[in-house]
Amino acid sequence: MTTQDYLEKLIAFDTTSALSNIALIDWVEGILVPLGADVQIIRNADGSKANIFATIGPADRPGVMLSGHTDVVPVAGQNWSRPAFEMTRLGDNLYGRGTTDMKGFVAAMLTAAHQASKQPLDTPLHLALSYDEEIGCMGVRSLIDMLALAQQRPKMCIVGEPTGLTVATGHKGKCAARAHFNGLAGHSALAPFAINAVYMASDFITALRNIQEELQNGSMQDHGYDVPYTTLHVGRIEGGGALNIVPQNCWLDFEIRNISQDNPVEILERLQASCDEIVTEAQKIAPDAAIEINVSNTYPGLDTPETSQVVAFVKSLTGANSTRKVAFGTEGGLFDQRLGVPTVVCGPGDMAQGHKADEFITRTQLDLCDEMLANLVSRLVVGL
Ligand SMILES: [Zn+2]
Repeated sequence: MTTQDYLEKLIAFDTTSALSNIALIDWVEGILVPLGADVQIIRNADGSKANIFATIGPADRPGVMLSGHTDVVPVAGQNWSRPAFEMTRLGDNLYGRGTTDMKGFVAAMLTAAHQASKQPLDTPLHLALSYDEEIGCMGVRSLIDMLALAQQRPKMCIVGEPTGLTVATGHKGKCAARAHFNGLAGHSALAPFAINAVYMASDFITALRNIQEELQNGSMQDHGYDVPYTTLHVGRIEGGGALNIVPQNCWLDFEIRNISQDNPVEILERLQASCDEIVTEAQKIAPDAAIEINVSNTYPGLDTPETSQVVAFVKSLTGANSTRKVAFGTEGGLFDQRLGVPTVVCGPGDMAQGHKADEFITRTQLDLCDEMLANLVSRLVVGL
């Protein structure tokens, strides 16, 4: 089978993050085991989803890991003009959910596995496929726990998220959180005797925006990014019930996307200090006034030094002579931070097509990815 054939099969599994990916994992296992790969399946608690980790070649030394996620974002509410879970070939374009993000790379991984199994490898090839990446890099964490205890950790990792096959050395970290504001309800005609939870939230947003302005004007900047500083953002807010009632409750969801020079924990502490001020003021009227912040998800950023061996190595595979940073998050930060595995992001396609209706990847990009991974397999034969 060719990479395009593998991609066609992969797209046909509806692995939207909310659904099971087991059928896809079983299918991949059915390809890798006959190739002689050592395959480990790491299931979630209820067995509805799984990661797969496979090694081809000698097991007694660290190898090069290719990493991809099997889940895709939902198509609900999107206006697709072609079937989302069926591959449509049109000119140079291959359409379908996940073509770019990132079943195209997963398909190329399977081609590489096939080639690697036919050769006497000196350095092994590892394949890592995860679930629940799209909801905050959740699934891969159990795969990382497994690798943390393994005798060998990969020597380096290529995360194949779409970069147009340029070598990306970094992305920002992310911390997503919800703040709940508890005020004191009252008749709106007597509003000054109550504590308006929406106003508390509004004060919080002002504090958040002040921090944002400081970061924007501060010295911590990374010009590898389109937005060179850490960003804070409120994405959703909900509060109050009726116009004639002072709202008791308000919730909001916010996030921090940090460059490596900034620590999101410190930013959260600054927000917490602002909350303490808001609450102290509110408690003059309502002793039970409170703000509670709960972090729902975090993943670390990636900031691989240009001088790292993985950067030179992957550049040599693609023939590229420059690097970039990407705006979107990946599992790469976790591989690097939790396992100390030097990691770059390099995969086919353009994230501009990801997460959208009529998502597509070009055959040209897939062919170039096949070339890159064929070069990788050649290097694994010689050893590195
Ligand atoms: Zn992705």
